[in-house]
Amino acid sequence: MQTNNCPNAAQVLGKTEEHLYYLSERVAIHHNMKSAFTAVVAAAQSEGIELKIASGFRSFSRQLTLWNNKFSGKTPIKDIAGNVVDIDKLSPLELVHSILLYSALPGASRHHWGCDIDVYAPNLLADGYQLQLEPWEYSEQGPLAKLSAWLVQHAHQFGFYFPYKNYQGGVAEEPWHLSYLPLAQQYQQNIDLKELAKTLQNSSILGKAVIIENLDEIAKRYINNVCAAPSNVILR
Ligand SMILES: [Zn+2]
Repeated sequence: MQTNNCPNAAQVLGKTEEHLYYLSERVAIHHNMKSAFTAVVAAAQSEGIELKIASGFRSFSRQLTLWNNKFSGKTPIKDIAGNVVDIDKLSPLELVHSILLYSALPGASRHHWGCDIDVYAPNLLADGYQLQLEPWEYSEQGPLAKLSAWLVQHAHQFGFYFPYKNYQGGVAEEPWHLSYLPLAQQYQQNIDLKELAKTLQNSSILGKAVIIENLDEIAKRYINNVCAAPSNVILR
């Protein structure tokens, strides 16, 4: 299905799939990113890198499950040093901040948009290796160093950049997270905190009251606090 130039609220919030194209049963990307993605995959392939998506589109309800599992203690939460956090010692607001370091608020994940993807290269990993999506794997010493170096040099030629390139006090560094600028800038401009608050209010999110009460602060520190796209990104 074709989508309008202006992303609608449901797309921004992860409440619809009308803008998506399914690459496989579980991986979907934005319809209008298909050709750029195909091009970057082909270019990486010619350098011996099998560029694959670990996580593409994620719906509001999927993000809600991830969130509630962390808030309830079902999934462990790590701090910036990689140590597991003892959530019993945290206030609800501290718990919210601990989760936001690595997991977006449902309704405010860039993965709702379909133009943001987490990538890896299975052909660079040993058989049976379980990808952790941790920065060291993408560092010079890590198994995905070749992918990382190639992306840093070439991703911009296909319209992609790294919104979580550096930790700047909000979301942790994510060297695997690529954003397709021509679409992402439109979605980013259409983030609406009133719509987000309304959606969260009507959801079963854990920590609802403290989240809604602190939504402006959360937006400033996490949702809007992304690395700027470099000026050399080519808009196709
Ligand atoms: Zn991501």
